[in-house]
Amino acid sequence: MPAKSVAISFVLVLLLSILNPVNADEIETTSIDENTLNCEGIESLEFDGLRANESVSFQVGLGPRLPGSNASKALLESFMENNTAWNWTLDKHPYADTNMTNLHGIYTPNVNQTDLPVVILAAHYDSRDRAERDDDENRTGEPIPGANDGGSGVAVLSELARIVPTLGLEHEVWILLTDAEDQGVVPGMLGAKAWAQDRTQEEIDSIHAFLLVDMIGDADLQINRVYPPKVGLSQTDRLWEAVDDLASSLGLVKDVPACDGSLGIDIVNTDVLDGVIDDHVPMLEVGIPAIDLIDIRYGPNATKWGGYWHTHEDTPDKVSAESLAHVGRILELGLRQGSWLMEENTTLQDDVENKSEDATQYDAVVLFVVFSAIGAVLLLFGILHGSVRFKP
Ligand SMILES: [Zn+2]
Repeated sequence: MPAKSVAISFVLVLLLSILNPVNADEIETTSIDENTLNCEGIESLEFDGLRANESVSFQVGLGPRLPGSNASKALLESFMENNTAWNWTLDKHPYADTNMTNLHGIYTPNVNQTDLPVVILAAHYDSRDRAERDDDENRTGEPIPGANDGGSGVAVLSELARIVPTLGLEHEVWILLTDAEDQGVVPGMLGAKAWAQDRTQEEIDSIHAFLLVDMIGDADLQINRVYPPKVGLSQTDRLWEAVDDLASSLGLVKDVPACDGSLGIDIVNTDVLDGVIDDHVPMLEVGIPAIDLIDIRYGPNATKWGGYWHTHEDTPDKVSAESLAHVGRILELGLRQGSWLMEENTTLQDDVENKSEDATQYDAVVLFVVFSAIGAVLLLFGILHGSVRFKP
């Protein structure tokens, strides 16, 4: 290779190696892999998968939980009656010729402090009004049982609603059961959108985590990281890292040694990314750090958005108490360890500002290096052609 080409290649390689870090996803994946095992509180976990599973049968037994239906009303009433330590609000919005109703509950610990941080546990409680994926074409217009899609998320939250008041937390926990997530040709997340739009900036600033659970009862449970991976908020990365750490401690990450000394099984894998638009997206859009724990491969060997999903096969026998317990224990352990909270003295606003400052500094450095490298190429080119010479 002639000297001129060697010189130019050298500069180009230098340039490419400098520009490569623009791919931030690689950096992010590496940081998630750095697992730190925290075993505090595991012995005390109370989440009862069998009890959660009873809730699935109860919900399906009520019939389709369509917006404005008696089944929906009965479900919300029983949720409130079973959890009297919470302050419940029925949040109604017009929907078709009826109302959709979100249930919003607040648990405030007994501490003499205002402006407490908030962690939100959320699930949609409506069941789908149609079964467009069912094999029986005569029944695609009928509502599905929604044991997993709707029922499983509510079941996990009903167990956590019972446990949260016993944890001695020093922050607020809110529960949000959204309505009208899964209605119509394209599920519209209408309840979540209405709830997000109604939040004040003060409320948004106090929310450290919005943790959505949906379709997490599949006996063959596989939870991956979901889209959007980032929306300019490193706070969603923080929450996925917490999920990875907690799941590792509980033995739910493949081949990672757990707190009990066993090798983890393959339930949670935050290195795999699935695109999912769900009730967490309207939250992200108003600036709330939100993630979605969801299994989009429902049933044995199911493909993405395949299996029993949106069919009449979404029945309680497909939902496993063990799977509900895996997800419930991740959420409960996170509450016990304070994993869902931002570090002290960090606010969402700080995070956004730091991010943009970093980005500005990074842009300036990249520009400087690129122009220097182009200058060096031109200079070398000139030297090799004899049109540029240094004074002796
Ligand atoms: Zn659905």
